[in-house]
Amino acid sequence: MPGARSRKEEAMRALVAEIASCTRCPLHASRKNPVPGEGDLDAELMLVGEAPGRWEDEKGRPFVGAAGKLLNELLALAGFKREEVYIANVLKCRPPGNRDPKPEEVEACTPFLDRQIRIVEPRVIACLGRHSTRYLFSKAGLVFRRMGEARGRIYRARLLGMEVLLIPTFHPASALYNPSYRALLEADFELIGRVVKGATGAEQAPPRRRRRTLEDFMV
Ligand code: SF4
Repeated sequence: MPGARSRKEEAMRALVAEIASCTRCPLHASRKNPVPGEGDLDAELMLVGEAPGRWEDEKGRPFVGAAGKLLNELLALAGFKREEVYIANVLKCRPPGNRDPKPEEVEACTPFLDRQIRIVEPRVIACLGRHSTRYLFSKAGLVFRRMGEARGRIYRARLLGMEVLLIPTFHPASALYNPSYRALLEADFELIGRVVKGATGAEQAPPRRRRRTLEDFMV
């Protein structure tokens, strides 16, 4: 009988193979490589970004290049090595010119992300940027308005049948264009580190009820 770990590996291998041959949306035609995601399949912390950029498309790996270097620094600040977390994106193929994902692309691709979340079963998900936050909030029945309002807070949510803590923050690439975001990202990753390591009272946050405001989930 295969153990839980090997079942996870098998499920993720099958998923990666499906992504590699996926033609569900037009992005398959312009990609160099799909970028399914990578990391520890037993990670307590999962990071969900937006979509591959130029370097990710070249390498077939998430968060390489300048944004990846910054992400590694932010993870170190939170007390993690990159290989200790699982990293994925909303879209698995690069939108041309790094444009925003289209709603139909998100709809076509996110069943893959949902399956990744079910396989890894993270306790905490860091939503990197507005596309990731909007999608994961919608799956959790939470209202998303703006990153400036949502970021740096902890949302206890039921997502895909699991209890998780969602922590939105800016996409690391945003700090490359707007250096003032860097301090906010650092503060948010320090929070993420404290939450994953159980050093805050987040786990005792009140359970989510319908129609509550986001402020109800503030620690
Ligand atoms: Fe398939 Fe997602 Fe790539 Fe579109 S972005 S082709 S849905 S893997």
